[in-house]
Amino acid sequence: MTWNVLGHEWAAQLLKQHMIRKAVRHAYLFTGPEGVGRRTLALRFAQALNCLYPPVPGDPCGTCQICQQTGRMEMADLSIVQSEPDSHTIKIEQVRDLQHTLSLAPYQARYRVAVLLRFEEATAAAQNALLKTLEEPPQKVVLLLTADATENLFPTIVSRCEVLRLRPLAIEQLAEALQTYWEISNDEARKLAHLANGRPGYALFLHQNPQILHQLHQWSAEVFELLTESRRARFAYAEKVAKSREELRPVLLAWLSLWRDVMLAAGGADASLSNLEFESQIRCLAETIGWSKARACVAGLEQALVQLDSNVNIRLLTENVLLDWPRQSAI
Ligand SMILES: [Zn+2]
Repeated sequence: MTWNVLGHEWAAQLLKQHMIRKAVRHAYLFTGPEGVGRRTLALRFAQALNCLYPPVPGDPCGTCQICQQTGRMEMADLSIVQSEPDSHTIKIEQVRDLQHTLSLAPYQARYRVAVLLRFEEATAAAQNALLKTLEEPPQKVVLLLTADATENLFPTIVSRCEVLRLRPLAIEQLAEALQTYWEISNDEARKLAHLANGRPGYALFLHQNPQILHQLHQWSAEVFELLTESRRARFAYAEKVAKSREELRPVLLAWLSLWRDVMLAAGGADASLSNLEFESQIRCLAETIGWSKARACVAGLEQALVQLDSNVNIRLLTENVLLDWPRQSAI
């Protein structure tokens, strides 16, 4: 197999060159929006570093024991550090545990690899602790960090890593790549590329998880139903979706994506819409309510997403969002 990282071939090439020239750095930082493919690239690099039978220098075979275990994030010399789902925080204890592991020689592979996911979620203490490892890295250790942007990490962390900035692809380019490399039909590939706003990792995630794709479709369809509903029906709906912060977040994000489309369409912008399946309804709604109302709905959702992380009552928060939406006759 090749690296198979859609749209980030330049990054794979650079990492391959480091291996071939025996100039592998101690730490790399992959930045970019969630779903762009940061973790996939980091894991592919971890495979290439330790592959037992590389078909050509710098390429992982994808099938040896180490490649397979690394792909499943279960390899003995691979450490994964990420925040707990409920806290969204990487704590200093996790970094200390990692440091202990990294002080040991590799068990079965050439390198010990540590993958630190979404490191912008690390506390200041955790970032400071990691700095020590970055300053004096143990032998045979490679650290791979991912983050949304360098600005959200300590500059001292960033300066000690080789930074690879991953960007979304042009939507047409991603649609084409999905057809060519993943044999996804033309219509489906376009739909996924738009929904993912050009982020290959997210597009593939949706393709591999049809139930999530279906759920997103459902939440978007319900927006148009809710617009025709009374206050009372909206309250009932809020009660249904506002069960927990974790369950509510993806709903709000799906709505935000849809309302951004309405705002774009109302602005008359040529920008392509994310939710292609609802294009006619989006354009119709945009024409009826206009840009400033659409903008207000976008702002309401953005604010709700920020408040979701604070101590607010999430049912009230959802009710407020829904009551701000205009009442429409059937669209
Ligand atoms: Zn291999």
